[in-house]
Amino acid sequence: MKKNVLIIGAGGVARVVAHKCARNNDLLGDIHIASRTVEKCEAIVASVREKKALKVAGRFKAHALDAMDPEATKALIEKTGARIVINVGSPFLNMSVLSACIDTGAAYIDTAIHEDPMKICETPPWYANYEWKRREECEKAGITAILGAGFDPGVVNAYARLAYDEYFDSIESVDIVDINAGSHGRYFATNFDPEINFREFTGKVWSWQEGEWTSNSMFEIGKEWDLPVVGTQKAYLTGHDEVHSLSHVLKIPTVRFWMGFGEHYINVFTVLKNLGLLSEQPVRTAEGQEVVPLKLVKAVLPDPGSLAPDYAGKTCIGDFVRGMKDGRQRELFIYNVADHEEAYKEVGSQGISYTAGVPATAAAMLIASGEWDVGKMANVEELLPRPFLSLLNRIGLPTRIRDEKGDRALTFQSAVQHTRAPGEGRKAAIVGADRARRFG
Ligand code: NDP
Repeated sequence: MKKNVLIIGAGGVARVVAHKCARNNDLLGDIHIASRTVEKCEAIVASVREKKALKVAGRFKAHALDAMDPEATKALIEKTGARIVINVGSPFLNMSVLSACIDTGAAYIDTAIHEDPMKICETPPWYANYEWKRREECEKAGITAILGAGFDPGVVNAYARLAYDEYFDSIESVDIVDINAGSHGRYFATNFDPEINFREFTGKVWSWQEGEWTSNSMFEIGKEWDLPVVGTQKAYLTGHDEVHSLSHVLKIPTVRFWMGFGEHYINVFTVLKNLGLLSEQPVRTAEGQEVVPLKLVKAVLPDPGSLAPDYAGKTCIGDFVRGMKDGRQRELFIYNVADHEEAYKEVGSQGISYTAGVPATAAAMLIASGEWDVGKMANVEELLPRPFLSLLNRIGLPTRIRDEKGDRALTFQSAVQHTRAPGEGRKAAIVGADRARRFG
């Protein structure tokens, strides 16, 4: 059984992970948090102590780390005795942190696909550009590496797998819709690192439609979605990590990702982009100073973590799934609604960080319990969804479904489910570590 956790990063998501790990330290053991700026880690440790979040007495320590350095990361894993590393730092760190995990035998979890700081809007197949190149290495070394275990990617992948296993005989399309209907009250801010946020949208956006990659420009295709709680919301077709893995693993012909944006965001984004202020290429000022416009914009925008105290409203994120069941066409929506103010009250972060940090903690708990300790690299849809969704119901992100029977909460009490390994026939299976090993 794996114990002792090292959290990498000290942003909004890391804060959530830290609080949730503390609340489950009877299972997870010692908790360590490391980032470039140790003061940020210390502030998180202090907030965990202030809220008396540690479930049982145990270690919770802050460390300074440049996680771009695999040797330093390896040394910290060894020093802390961590057997599970939750990488919720910037996506630039994935490959170096993964290397450190492979070398030390620790399990690895992240919540976003790897990015090369010098490349913007890389073309698909994204996971195959970096992470999947190291699949064999993980399998040979018996390393559990769970990719994209946030909300999207993450929980939406588990929703797709649940639909695939239990609600459809065949799936035509999955449309993932991510709406943040909350408001932070600032003139303009991004909900997570502005650099990462803008990089997603400055080039082409890619979707998987009828078995092939299709490209559009950002904000070219918008669609109104009728959603529970947050009402009718406009969302725009964009590229996202899980479009690649879901289309590849579950062989779904059409996988699209839609993200909600208000007119104000689009206007500001368009002005910044057209002025060249979102460029990662350095420019020289008249005084001879070299400046990267994107980094300058990041420096003047609010720190996403600072938005939390004033954030109000809800998020609604889920999968519209269409396909056939028992010879009939069917469509349903599996989703979660999260509340910014409740997230802040509980862990001091806004709802977007909450929806990403809670699933990463759940993944760590499932590795600790053995259910997801699969000894190889896996995207979330390759793992059994029920233990994950059941745990999320319990620790803060309940799953709901809207289908022809109405809108209701989903519970996951049954120990037996019908499950198909992607590409195999339908079979009954006991949920547990054996299943996860066979099909994960
Ligand atoms: P933040 O930008 O708030 O935090 C990133 C953290 O990474 C900072 O604390 C920063 O450290 C740390 N960091 C950056 N470089 C290094 C380095 N070289 N060594 C050590 N630490 C480093 O991001 P968020 O908390 O908002 O997001 C964290 C991750 O979660 C990102 O990868 C993001 O893409 C992902 N995410 C995933 C979602 C999902 O649903 N799947 C949703 C939201 C986010 P410091 O401050 O000390 O400089």
